[in-house]
Amino acid sequence: PGTRWIGTSFKMTKTRAEAVAYAARLREALGPELAERAPGVRPFVIPPATAITAVVSALGEDSPVLVGAQNAHWEDYGAWTGELSVPQVADAGVGLVELGHSERREHFAETDATVRLKVAATLRHGLRPLLCVGENAGVRARGGSVAHVRAQADAALDGLTEDELRSVLIAYEPIWAIGEGGREPDPADIAPVFSALAERYGAGRCAGLLYGGSVNRYNAAELLRVPEVRGLFVGRGAWRAEDFLALIDLVA
Ligand code: 13P
Repeated sequence: PGTRWIGTSFKMTKTRAEAVAYAARLREALGPELAERAPGVRPFVIPPATAITAVVSALGEDSPVLVGAQNAHWEDYGAWTGELSVPQVADAGVGLVELGHSERREHFAETDATVRLKVAATLRHGLRPLLCVGENAGVRARGGSVAHVRAQADAALDGLTEDELRSVLIAYEPIWAIGEGGREPDPADIAPVFSALAERYGAGRCAGLLYGGSVNRYNAAELLRVPEVRGLFVGRGAWRAEDFLALIDLVA
């Protein structure tokens, strides 16, 4: 029941040529027939900004694959050197905006307050926000995971109407599980956070709760069995198109 989501962010990897080759492989393998191969599945790909327009063209107009941006500013235009606005990424062909990833919070000083402004800007322009939340190893060791993640989600989504909330995707990405050196979680590690998120954002109140952090084609099935998990958000484990295609079949 309901849409299942499988997405990847390329983070700061891939040239335009590499991103286009990836998109072309998805187009060849999926085409518009995704509805038959994987009914109810919505894949998304989040390239670096330099490759967004090229990926959108390579996927083609009828593609079932949604293209995202890794970030966007809360203002529509102006003197914000180095930033891209929601209207600009929309103009590039993006349908989804990733916001509040832990790498942006940690290295680029994003806060709950700025993430909230960005969620609002994304909704204002009719795009889908993908809100990332997650605690670090220290918070987890103190038993604070649930409270931390719920506070991050509540802060970013405060004040949204029920209608607005219904288009928001929430990805729980524990920092201790992300990236090189990250630990693959056991389902039992993440289940309590999903049940807490689901109390407020489950059962159709948002677009879906996703898990991210060291997901790959071998552990995906087990992570998808965690109650309330409606999809996966993958980094390294989907940077080869064949791995992403395998993940699409697993989510289906
Ligand atoms: P990895 O899958 O490489 O751990 O990264 C997850 C992530 O941060 C996706 O946004």
